[in-house]
Amino acid sequence: MATPSHRIRRITGDGSDGWDLFYRAKDLIRQGIQVTELTIGEHDVKTDPAILDAMYGAARQGNTGYASIPGIPELRAAVAERTQRLTGVPTAPENVIITPGGQAALFSAHQLVADPGDRALHIDPYYPTYPGTIRAAGLVPSTVVARAEAGFEPVEDDLMAAAPGARSILVNSPNNPTGVIYSERTLQGLARVADAHDLWVISDEVYDSQVWDGRHISARAIPGMADRTLVVGSLSKSHAMTGSRLGWVVGPADAMDLLWDLSTVSNYGIPGFIQEAGVFALAQGPQYEAGIAAPFRRRREITQRLLGAQNVVRAAPQRGAMYAMLDVRATGLSGEGFAVRLLDEERIAVLPGESFGTASAGHVRVAMTVDDAAYEDALRRLLDLAGRLVAGRAQGAAHFPAELG
Ligand code: PMP
Repeated sequence: MATPSHRIRRITGDGSDGWDLFYRAKDLIRQGIQVTELTIGEHDVKTDPAILDAMYGAARQGNTGYASIPGIPELRAAVAERTQRLTGVPTAPENVIITPGGQAALFSAHQLVADPGDRALHIDPYYPTYPGTIRAAGLVPSTVVARAEAGFEPVEDDLMAAAPGARSILVNSPNNPTGVIYSERTLQGLARVADAHDLWVISDEVYDSQVWDGRHISARAIPGMADRTLVVGSLSKSHAMTGSRLGWVVGPADAMDLLWDLSTVSNYGIPGFIQEAGVFALAQGPQYEAGIAAPFRRRREITQRLLGAQNVVRAAPQRGAMYAMLDVRATGLSGEGFAVRLLDEERIAVLPGESFGTASAGHVRVAMTVDDAAYEDALRRLLDLAGRLVAGRAQGAAHFPAELG
């Protein structure tokens, strides 16, 4: 081929990203070997047939032509209503633009906030598409570490130190991969930093329906932040609609007009029949979303119960989202080393913390995405393996204290 751009070749970073494990698990499954798959953030239920009926009905009624590019008015209004209800921030349809999923919203938001070569911050640990999304928008990603010891929440001093010269900061709460929900204090610190350095805040809130402990606060709800915050949302997690590719950006109306221009030259709008299905889905209300989240809430209870009955594996405060971030450092293995042993010996696939940045090294991320019984069994076996590794270490140390130093 002729020479592709530097920009597109740089979307993926260098070296192994830890997803090797995901592909190894897939290989085993292809060979007919039974593997408990806890790697991917996707529900174990399919999109509700009632939502599919709405989609099909809309298509059959002729909604198969070009659809309104920023989103059909009913969908923009439904997202605005949901946003205002959940966050308390006055939100009009003009504050919403519909995108093909949260991922496209992340990309569009980064196109809006800075120019090629500008620095865009994000937090480490992070959802693995973040640095590539930032690079694809022509920006230079730079991380702020949120340490395990600080409950994986970024601290104000670190944000302040990283901010000079940056144009934006991307945060995600409830968080993938850690399951942490940022406290009001963290968000207020973030707001002070954004204000002091004139940063845009891109707040990825795609897990806002999965809150187990405490309360989710939108970065846009912190006083003074609505004018500099772009909230990324999606029906993927809240309505088990990952394949429908229906997401949004919420922010200042004039910013939405700019994103409208970007949509015109990129996707030209989302299929009208899918948007109508989105209107139907949102009309089911908060109880419906609680029902979609319920299996994860139960499995989070299982996780807390099993973790509480042992003292080898620690966990990040598991307040929201469909994951548990488990600290396996006591085993002496890296997250990757532990995940490999778990796959080889127990046929359980989890992702190494190293796949999500440096701050979650020595951890594994467990997606709570199989049925309760299978989940409990897998987690029990994971904890047993950790227990055996620690016991083995202690025995080794007793025999070879000098060599081990
Ligand atoms: N942000 C986070 C933190 C995610 O975990 C995901 C999906 N796993 C997305 C954004 C993108 O979701 P979607 O494009 O399906 O809306």
